[in-house]
Amino acid sequence: MEDFTEIFMKKEKTDKANQNDFSSEMLQFIEQSPTCFHATKNIKNLLCEKGFSELSEQNPWKIKHGERYFVTRGDSSIIAFALPQKCNGGFAIVASHTDSPALKIKEGGEKNELGVCRLNVEKYGGLLLSPWFDRPLSVAGRVAIRSKNGKIEMRLADIRRPLALIPSLAIHFDRNANDGKKIDFQNEMLPVFSEEGERSILDAISEHLKIKKTDILATDLFVYNAERGFFWGAQNEFLSSPRLDDLECAWTTLQGFLDSIVTLEEMQNIPVYATFDNEEVGSMTRQGADSTFLSETLERISISLKKNREEHFCALARSFLVSADNAHALHPAHAHLFDPVNRPLVNKGIVAKLNAAQKYTTDSISLALFKDFCQKAAVPLQIFTNNSNVAGGSTLGNISQTHVSVRSIDVGLPQWAMHSPLESAGAKDPIFMKRATEAFFKADEFPLD
Ligand code: ZN
Repeated sequence: MEDFTEIFMKKEKTDKANQNDFSSEMLQFIEQSPTCFHATKNIKNLLCEKGFSELSEQNPWKIKHGERYFVTRGDSSIIAFALPQKCNGGFAIVASHTDSPALKIKEGGEKNELGVCRLNVEKYGGLLLSPWFDRPLSVAGRVAIRSKNGKIEMRLADIRRPLALIPSLAIHFDRNANDGKKIDFQNEMLPVFSEEGERSILDAISEHLKIKKTDILATDLFVYNAERGFFWGAQNEFLSSPRLDDLECAWTTLQGFLDSIVTLEEMQNIPVYATFDNEEVGSMTRQGADSTFLSETLERISISLKKNREEHFCALARSFLVSADNAHALHPAHAHLFDPVNRPLVNKGIVAKLNAAQKYTTDSISLALFKDFCQKAAVPLQIFTNNSNVAGGSTLGNISQTHVSVRSIDVGLPQWAMHSPLESAGAKDPIFMKRATEAFFKADEFPLD
């Protein structure tokens, strides 16, 4: 067998040529996915292009070996799978999330006073507030409209161009502005949108959708950072973009999934690609990771393949879930907040997350298995543990365990400025996640414990 470093060096050479192309495709996907609804629609379109058929939760499923399918819930979560000829093993599942922290526009979307109209927004997720100031912001989301035939129809809208902005207060009014200051969300975070009384957000949306304003019945609209992703650094080795958490994982694992099923005929496990909405607000929704979406989908696959309950449980016991949600890279100015030993760096590969309190699902078995996939794919793997004095975050791995209890690992790509409207990461890392995911889906079986 070839030495791991040797394989890695060879891979690194071929990767050099295409890693920024790969990452640049990812940035395009993220740019076109300003909300969970758009991300889901773009993933759905890509799956359709690759020969996947859409299933509806409302009708019985008739699925066949050798075919590929997907199902969505709430327009914002999607599960795709392909059926090998044999399906002797379990389910090989990769999960990520489609949502990102943003400003959600409340019903009765604006406040007119003091010469301007400001959008009345509330927090969606754990936002880092200060970077939202002085940035070009736009509006996108889902709109329920009364269509011409009188029925209610859901449409997606994305204005794209800079439509709003939250101006900072000049330093001259607050000499202590650089000494750390509390932000009054309800007052300070409302983006300026037009001159007072001139336009409403529904004017902009109805114009954009070319419909009458009175045909809009309800909306799920978000204010998002309208900047495009870009490469930077002495050798373009870094990238920045809105929504890297977690569209970076949603996109790279999708690519690994699609590339792996080229060899579907030889697969033992059923490859499952899942991406959920509402991770940023705790996942406890109809379409979140803390719902029945994954467990019911897996069960319906078994039912449709005429497996009995006993066989379904055997398949679950042979399954493995990779929860892919971005990880914190060591911050050069704040190294003391990180674990003194486990310090993931950008551009140095995938990060496996471990936590004694089980906020992450990684254990020695799942880590060993995942290490093996990474070695086979010549992908470097790093470790994240919290500094023991810092609480740290959580993710979707342990949440979905409450519905589908399968062996699982929490991984992610290293990034800076998580939950800022502009996040940063390594340009070399995305292809690693794609390759590791591909190796995972191609694995023969996951040894039983
Ligand atoms: Zn995340």
